[in-house]
Amino acid sequence: MTEIGEKKELPDVFIDPIDMSELDRGFRKEIQSMPNGEELSACFACSTCTSACPIANIWEIKPHQLIRMIILGIREKVLSSKEIWLCLTCFECQERCPQGVRVTDIFFDCKNLATEEGMIPASIVALGKELIEKGQLYTVTADWEREDLDLEPDVPGLSTDAVKRVLGSTRTGRLVKGGR
Ligand code: SF4
Ligand code: SF4
Repeated sequence: MTEIGEKKELPDVFIDPIDMSELDRGFRKEIQSMPNGEELSACFACSTCTSACPIANIWEIKPHQLIRMIILGIREKVLSSKEIWLCLTCFECQERCPQGVRVTDIFFDCKNLATEEGMIPASIVALGKELIEKGQLYTVTADWEREDLDLEPDVPGLSTDAVKRVLGSTRTGRLVKGGR
């Protein structure tokens, strides 16, 4: 037992304590003001979202922790986290949240904010460029497969020109090319 006046030793912890001066108190309101953020404050940190997430075991920051960090205002760390981009958008977390927190949609909002601030991982930019240049992310059937099957090289009637044109004129198109 600690005697009166004796200095109490701090317990060992596995994570760094939060530096309160670095919190952005407006972050919670910023997310709440978006169409998906209304129920954010209802989160009671039950971590059901993390239990439901098929890939949370490989995330350093788990879904329920991201939600808690948003509520606390740890803005920079959330928006620069790789986890918001790793989300599969399977909606398992959102479906199961007992408090109606739109977890997946909130991660979408975070990605949009991160993008606005130029914090897009290089791999995502590369995917975006590929999509805009080719109009599709996956080749319907590879050339060598078509050749093996005695098919003509291109899929008849498949044109991605319209998709490329539309995507190229969107904000996504400008962002992946380094514009605004
Ligand atoms: S399931 Fe919902 S209430 Fe529970 S921690 Fe996740 S967001 Fe919060
Ligand atoms: S939507 Fe994202 S965070 Fe939610 S369960 Fe699926 S992968 Fe996990």
